[in-house]
Order: sequence, then structure tokens, then C-alpha cells
Amino acid sequence: MTLRIAVPNKGRLDEPATEVLRQSGMRFERTPRTLSVPVSNLDIELLFVRTEDIPELVSDGIVGLGITGLDLIEEAGLPLETVLPLGFGHCSLAAAVPLGSEIGAVEDFTGCRIATSHPQTTNRFFAGKGVEITTVPLRGSVEVAPRLDVADAVVDLVSSGSTLRVNGLRQVVTILESQAYLIRDPKLSDGLLPLANQVRTMVAAVATARSNRYLMMNAPEAAVETISRLIPGLAAPTVVPLAGAGMVAVHSVVAADDLWRVLPALEQAGAGGILVLPIEALIP
Ligand code: AMP
Repeated sequence: MTLRIAVPNKGRLDEPATEVLRQSGMRFERTPRTLSVPVSNLDIELLFVRTEDIPELVSDGIVGLGITGLDLIEEAGLPLETVLPLGFGHCSLAAAVPLGSEIGAVEDFTGCRIATSHPQTTNRFFAGKGVEITTVPLRGSVEVAPRLDVADAVVDLVSSGSTLRVNGLRQVVTILESQAYLIRDPKLSDGLLPLANQVRTMVAAVATARSNRYLMMNAPEAAVETISRLIPGLAAPTVVPLAGAGMVAVHSVVAADDLWRVLPALEQAGAGGILVLPIEALIP
């Protein structure tokens, strides 16, 4: 039985999604405009489709797994399993108003017309806060709606905030923090489950590896305790004696985001010859 996986065919998630599958060990040839390709080393077929169609394809059981944004999963509101965050496609769904607006808090949106390509999520958010609004559903160019007097505010995806600034908008509240997720059909047949679990493990190993680094260094034996506190690693750092008297090699895994705090501290603790290496796959 072949496991089908839906992957974005264009847009922001296209390249990173294809890349994470390749890194996880799937071999496939992708040519422009191909809708589906077989994975040569596994019983898997990749379906390249619109990012926003993926929640429905997964929920309907047309594909077993899919990669798409959490914002689109929430908007679809369909029964499906969010299996794993993938660590790319980060953005937030935020409510923003024109610079001159007096709106400063969620309650101030009462009675507002809000332009958005995420009307379900927007309605759910404001209803949850007891604030009555009307949505103006738009497919794209949401940020120009207030200037055209189609809406008083927008709910749109924001990453750096530069699109909001260029359009004279100011962010008031974040509705959802989004990133790409691996999702699964909750009714996936028993025959496909083992392969879907294998994909999950491999993709998780790649996603975890990307946010971590392997550190190697030499240090005086006396510094091991301080170093172990700085880089505890998965269980504890590996400490190997060196040929030189009183010196050891220390190996550990550290979060990539922590590197710039940890490296100077390691140097100060007496470590030298510090190497930072990328990790290909990591199962904690
Ligand atoms: P796209 O196909 O390029 O319109 O984007 C599809 C998905 O990419 C969105 O649904 C989000 O999950 C994600 N994304 C990440 N950053 C952004 C951003 N700055 N603006 C819009 N979408 C983003």
C-alpha cells in the first residue's frame, strides 16, 4: 500500500517542505509542474498541491500525511492530527489597524469591519473575547483594505512586520503563532500506520537536528564540572581523556539559539579548540 503525502507546490513553504523530506532520506525527482512523484526508496507518493488545500486533503483521507501552515490548519477547522511542528514557516496571525486609529486593545475592535483571508480564525478569536466584529473575507492584498475603506482593520500573517509598516498599519494583537506542521489523517488505515510513523520519526529527527549543534572542545580536567553545567547535552556531555596530562575532550549537543551565550562562557571556563558542527538527524 502506498502512503500519499501532500506537499505545498508553491509559495513560502514549498522549498523548505521539499527539503525536509529529502533530508529525512526520501529520494525523488521533482520537475516543475509535476503534480505527483514517487519516492524511489520507499512506498510513498508525494502530491504537490496548493498549501491551503492540504488540510482538507488530509482530513478527507485523500492523502495520509501533509505539510502545511498551522494558520491554514486552524482556519480549515477540520478533524486532523497535528503530528509535529517543523521549525520553518514561522509567522503570526495578527490584528492590525491604520496608524491614525485609536484602537489599542482587543475590546476596541467592537463593531469593526475586519478584512482577512482567515475569517473563521478571526471570528473564533473575537467571539472568544466577547467582542462583536464583522469579517470582510479577502483572498489576498488584505493590507490595502483599510485604505480602500473596505475595512477598519485587518487580520493578516506577519513575519518581520515590514508589509504592515509599508501599508501604514500598526499591529495591535497576535491571534496565533504559526509555523509549518506535519499533519495526519486521523482515520489512516492500519496498513499505512507503520510507514506514517516512520516518516514522523525521520522528519522529527531532521527538524530537531536543525535546531541543535554538536560541540567538541578540549579542556582542563578541573573545568569539566563548570562545562557540564553549561552544556548538559541530551543526558550528560561525553568526556574523553586526552593523551596530554590533565586534559580532556568534551562533546555535547547544544540548542543553536543558545550558542552565542554558551561559547564565550565555555572559553572563559578554560575550554579551547572549540568546534561547532551541524547535526544531520537527532532523536533525543
Ligand atoms: P504562501 O503560499 O507563500 O502564501 O504562504 C503559505 C503559508 O506560509 C502561510 O499560510 C503561512 O503558514 C506561511 N507563512 C510564513 N511566513 C509568512 C508571511 N510572512 N506571510 C504569509 N505567509 C507566511
